[in-house]
Amino acid sequence: MKGYAGKITYVDLSSGKIWNDAVEEAFARKYLGGSGFATRVLFDRVPKGADPLGEMNAFILCTGPVSGTLAHGSGRGGIVTKSPLTDYFMDSYFGGEFAAALKQSGRDMLVILGKSSSPVFLFIDNDEVKLVPAEDLWGLSTKDVQDKIRERCGRYVSVVCCGPAGENLAPIACCISGRRAAGRGGTGAVLGSKNLKAIAVRGTKDVEVADIKGMIKFYHDKKENFLGLKALRELGTPFLVKFINEKGGLGTLNWQQESWEKAKNLYAEEFIQKHMLRSWACFACNMGGCTRVVRAISKSSTVTEGPEYETLFALGSNCGVDDRDKIIETDRLCDDYGIDTISYGGCIGFLMECYEKGLITKDDTGGIDFSFGNGDTLVQCTHLVAKREGIGNFIALGVKAMAEKIGRGAEKFACHIRGLEPPGHSARALKSMALGYAVSPRGGSHHDTRPGPEYQMDPEARAKTEGKAQIAYNTSNWAVIGDSMIVCHFCEGVYGVTLTENHVNLLKLVTGWDLSLKELTEIANRIHALKRSFNCREGLRRKDDRLPYRFMHERIPSGSSKGLGITPDELQRLLDEYYQLRGWDSEGIPTRETLNKLGLTDVEINA
Ligand code: SF4
Repeated sequence: MKGYAGKITYVDLSSGKIWNDAVEEAFARKYLGGSGFATRVLFDRVPKGADPLGEMNAFILCTGPVSGTLAHGSGRGGIVTKSPLTDYFMDSYFGGEFAAALKQSGRDMLVILGKSSSPVFLFIDNDEVKLVPAEDLWGLSTKDVQDKIRERCGRYVSVVCCGPAGENLAPIACCISGRRAAGRGGTGAVLGSKNLKAIAVRGTKDVEVADIKGMIKFYHDKKENFLGLKALRELGTPFLVKFINEKGGLGTLNWQQESWEKAKNLYAEEFIQKHMLRSWACFACNMGGCTRVVRAISKSSTVTEGPEYETLFALGSNCGVDDRDKIIETDRLCDDYGIDTISYGGCIGFLMECYEKGLITKDDTGGIDFSFGNGDTLVQCTHLVAKREGIGNFIALGVKAMAEKIGRGAEKFACHIRGLEPPGHSARALKSMALGYAVSPRGGSHHDTRPGPEYQMDPEARAKTEGKAQIAYNTSNWAVIGDSMIVCHFCEGVYGVTLTENHVNLLKLVTGWDLSLKELTEIANRIHALKRSFNCREGLRRKDDRLPYRFMHERIPSGSSKGLGITPDELQRLLDEYYQLRGWDSEGIPTRETLNKLGLTDVEINA
């Protein structure tokens, strides 16, 4: 089977058993790879009600048919698990070269089950898979552990690991590979809960594709288009700070406003002119690389990869911090400790508003000043979160849990969707994103529904609900196929932000399959139905497809999106439309008819 390694490796940490299952073509055609494969395995292996930090959860590292090939954006990999932050389905994707290495080691996916009785790391050296004691690695930063593993296993080994935050089971902990994060939903805590510090891979096999000449031509044909993504190539994702601030959708001061005068201090040009050391790209990225490696001016030893746009929003405007050095330092610490910068910034911004409103004081924070704009607080709390000490033990829980504990109206400005803090794409300025967040399998993620189409519209067009459910449906079909192939979502600037013949052609070149666009759309629908079924089996219903109170009851107060928002009635209308497009019932549950039509006859939601 071209494009696939043809094997899934299972590791049961409780028993130490390691085995391989073959990937049958019928399975590959049905679930495609990446997110599709992993969702099926998660649904089958993780029973209803399983504790995300318990032995019954699975930690799945996935690649897709495109991973490890020369296609643009084929270096990204995925982690799929049940989230300790949301208690629902979670997937999170990361760049670098790990996914290519995993595929080149001869496997499409790695499924970790159970829990080790003592710290270990997993070393995959092509066909050989072994668990290695890792007591001496426990407690190390993500950078140090990767360095140590390379010293031990060889220089050309790719690593995914958790940091101290994951070891200490912080629900906002992430996994790191190189300096790239699989940020969302507490994947690092799941790894830590299994006593698994890291997974290291050396892969030296070829990834065979169906039509190599066609792939080379496809690559060259598209290269100019990729190089044409000028802003991303020249400025990296921070170019979005200016763009989104001018659109009036930049979450500021815990989303109290969505445009910010001081944001200009966080514009990409500032980082390029004053902090940039070099740019960097993932495996097989031919865009010139969207990543900027930057250095703090006041502390020249502090170097970080990024901060990306989402980090600049979360640590910057959302916390009222425009001190670039503090953001660079916090970004670096979050990476070292393995903390998701989006959730972390969401948590700090939320506590800053609690502090502003007098709901918490220095007595609650261990004497730390939580005034908006305090960059030292950003830096200081990373250490506390990683160690689960003092106020850090509280922050580590995420906004939803903190708001429930604080009470006294805090939930009215607690910005999270099913426990996941939202990224920097406004639900009030972009109605398709509002719907997309509400129905996202992960909660507050911008990688299910995509924001691109609405950013092209003026505020009047964005204010309307008409057509927005269709945008959410179309872009989330591309996103789930992108995560299953797997290709970088920034490829949407060339291949399309909805499913197109480009995706069909790329898949054909890799696999040799003659899929139609309609069939590819059906695969997208199938994977969405399966993710939704996983969540519905956990008890998710229409009432849970909701947005933060602030997003639905307060309008954007200023800026070019002034007056925009989404009312509860509008959201309900959009939900009706979206459920209908997906074939889900009025409670948002995939109907038996829909599941059968998609070949999911064995999927039982009420089991
Ligand atoms: S665009 Fe950025 S994230 Fe995507 S593959 Fe290239 S370097 Fe990686």
